[in-house]
Amino acid sequence: MPDTLVFSRRRGLLRHAGALAALATLDALAAAARPQGRRMPVLFIGHGSPMNALRDTAFTRQLAAWGRTLPQPTAILSVSAHWLTRGDTRVGVQARPRTIHDFGGFPQALFDQQYPAPGHPALARETAALVRQAKVAGTEEWGLDHGTWTVLKHLYPQAEVPVFQLSIDDDQPPAFHLAVGRDLAALRDRGVLVLGSGNIAHNLRMTDRERADGLMASRPWAQQFDAAAWQALAGRDDAALLAYQRLPGAAQAVATPDHYHPLLYSVGAAGPGEAVKTVFEGFQSGTISMRCLQFG
Ligand code: ZN
Repeated sequence: MPDTLVFSRRRGLLRHAGALAALATLDALAAAARPQGRRMPVLFIGHGSPMNALRDTAFTRQLAAWGRTLPQPTAILSVSAHWLTRGDTRVGVQARPRTIHDFGGFPQALFDQQYPAPGHPALARETAALVRQAKVAGTEEWGLDHGTWTVLKHLYPQAEVPVFQLSIDDDQPPAFHLAVGRDLAALRDRGVLVLGSGNIAHNLRMTDRERADGLMASRPWAQQFDAAAWQALAGRDDAALLAYQRLPGAAQAVATPDHYHPLLYSVGAAGPGEAVKTVFEGFQSGTISMRCLQFG
C-alpha cells in the first residue's frame, strides 16, 4: 500500500488507519461541498520537480488549499509540458489512463505513486472535434504524465475527477498554442477545468539544486523573466506573452519552450481580458518559477 505509506508520511503523526480513513472522509466531504454548475476557471501550474508529489511544502500546501476552493469539474483537461508531439496534436481517449513515471533518478516511493483518476473518452473526442486550429487525433498511447498527476495529487487528492491530456505540437510557434487554447475555451461551459502545467522560467541546465525553495530566484534572469511575464499576464498583454523572447531574461529562462508553451494554452482558454490572479509564486532549485495562476 505505497499510497497509504506516503499519505501517513505526509501527515506526520497520523499513522493510525482510523485517522487515515477519517481524513479520506474529510477530503470526500470537501469534494462534495465544492460549488458546481458555473463556468470553470482556467489554471496554470508551475509543477517543478516530480518530488513535489511527495513533499509537504508551502507549494504543495497551497495546491491543497487551492483545490478546496475550486468548483467540482466534470473533467480536467491537462496540457502538460511533458507530452510533446511533433507535427500533430493528440488527445488521450483512455477510459483508465495510466500514471506515467516519466523521469529517472528518483526514490522508489515516487515510482510507487499512482493517480487512478478515470479518463473521459467522450469529452476527449468532443475536444478533438472542437479544436479548429489543428487536426486532433484521439490516442491511447499516453496517459497522465508527471506534469499532470504530481500536481493533481494535491489539488484533487481523491482522484475522483476524470482527467485527460492534450499533447503539445512541438513543431508549432507560440501563436498556434494560444489559438488551440482559445478553441478549448468552450469546454469551460461544459464543466471542464483546463489546466496548463509547465513552468514560466525553466532551464534545467542552470539550476541551483541545493538552494531551498523561496520567493527570490538565485539568478537575476529567472527573477526578471518571471516578473516580466507576470506583468504581461496581469495587464493581459497577450502579444507580449507571444513575443516572450523579447522579455528580459528570456534567453536563459526559456532556453527551450516546452515548459513555457502550456502557459499559452491557459491564456488562450481564458479569453481576451479575463482577469488573472497569482495563487502561488516562488522559485524551486533557485531558477524554476513555481508561479501558479487562476483565470476566472
Ligand atoms: Zn516539467
